[in-house]
Amino acid sequence: MQFNELTVMVVEDHGFQRRMAMRLLGELGVGKVLEAADGHQALEQLSGMAVVPEVLLVDLDMPGMDGIEFIGHVAQKKLARTVVVASALEPALLNTVQTMARAYGLRVLAAVEKPMTTQKLADALSLFDTAVDAPTDDADEEITAADVLEGMDRDEFVPFFQPQVELANGRVVGVEALARWRRPDGGVVRPVHFINVAEREGLIDRMTERVLEKACAWKVRWARDGLHLKISVNVSMLNLGDVSAADRYQNIVQSHGVDPHDVVLEITESSVMGEAASALNVLARLRLKGFGLSIDDFGTGYSSLAQLSHIPFTELKIDQSFVTGAPSQPRKRAVIEASLELARKLDLRVVGEGVETIDEWQMLAELGCTVAQGYLIAKPTPGDRIADVVAHWRRPAV
Ligand code: C2E
Ligand code: MG
Ligand code: MG
Repeated sequence: MQFNELTVMVVEDHGFQRRMAMRLLGELGVGKVLEAADGHQALEQLSGMAVVPEVLLVDLDMPGMDGIEFIGHVAQKKLARTVVVASALEPALLNTVQTMARAYGLRVLAAVEKPMTTQKLADALSLFDTAVDAPTDDADEEITAADVLEGMDRDEFVPFFQPQVELANGRVVGVEALARWRRPDGGVVRPVHFINVAEREGLIDRMTERVLEKACAWKVRWARDGLHLKISVNVSMLNLGDVSAADRYQNIVQSHGVDPHDVVLEITESSVMGEAASALNVLARLRLKGFGLSIDDFGTGYSSLAQLSHIPFTELKIDQSFVTGAPSQPRKRAVIEASLELARKLDLRVVGEGVETIDEWQMLAELGCTVAQGYLIAKPTPGDRIADVVAHWRRPAV
């Protein structure tokens, strides 16, 4: 998309700054630039429009209705899909606003620090394409238990694999298996659309075991070609309700000739587990059999310190929400540092998730994180392309 196809509305109380922003947008060749001197005026204009602007450039610090309240109204009334926040405020607050907007279903392209320049605005607006045109697999229709069951019967659920790389030397040491639903029409559906259904409908055991089985089969195939990778498989807390799970996983792994020491089970919690006896029973026995245990999405939801204190984890995965943007956000960096410190004391391997930029890679390396995983290295990839991805990956020169 060219900037001349964009309509941008500037919402800014300060006359000089508003005119300045409009002039810069004009210089960038933005197709149409609209203005509003405060949130009320902007809402009134937007509500009357047949087609709302692609982007709102919003000053946060305005008298009367501030930019945060304004963004809340915009999101609730669906008056825009993307905003650029302009402010001279502290990064932590900008980050809160960004998270809030996302929770409302809006996309914040960027937070532009004042004073504005054409370069800063160009950088922000150039993100518009990826924000809006990002390929979505959003299954439009509600996925039902019958759909999932049918997909399972047709063997349409397969793992894709995402490399895990040692930060110290750039070596690919393992892959995480991430479930994908390959639909007959060629579409690929992400787990966010079916894991909940599988959990709710009692299909999650079958799902997890299929993924584990296929991941083992791929591991053996790669090893035959000289590529030795550990595999990580996601396990839902609901998988641990039945104490026979430990034996079933061991059987699957052994039947492929895979050593449990080369398999990490990533435990995510979507609900309170507390100290459910069966889950502790299964996890302790899996550990006894040699499986690695990873606490996934550490620091979010129920993936907490309590879990860390009573489950024999061997690995901690720092959630991507802390990694994204951490190099410029002291609060996120502090969370990462504290997690690493904790992990050192507990002798856990640490994987940083969602590493997308060289800055994030470098920060994790400097802080002494063990392993990185994220789009910077590779997106989740079908098993037959992993050897290729590994062969072509080069550690960033930092
Ligand atoms: P997770 O285990 O925390 O997996 C990481 C997710 O982050 C994956 O999403 C991955 O594609 C995505 N990701 C990786 N690197 C980046 C990055 O650099 N940037 C961004 N924005 N995202 C990145 P995915 O594959 O959609 O999986 C979502 C979640 O679904 C997983 O989160 C996991 O909790 C669950 N899941 C996936 N496969 C299975 C499975 O076989 N069984 C169970 N129970 N849950 C699964
Ligand atoms: Mg995981
Ligand atoms: Mg995670």
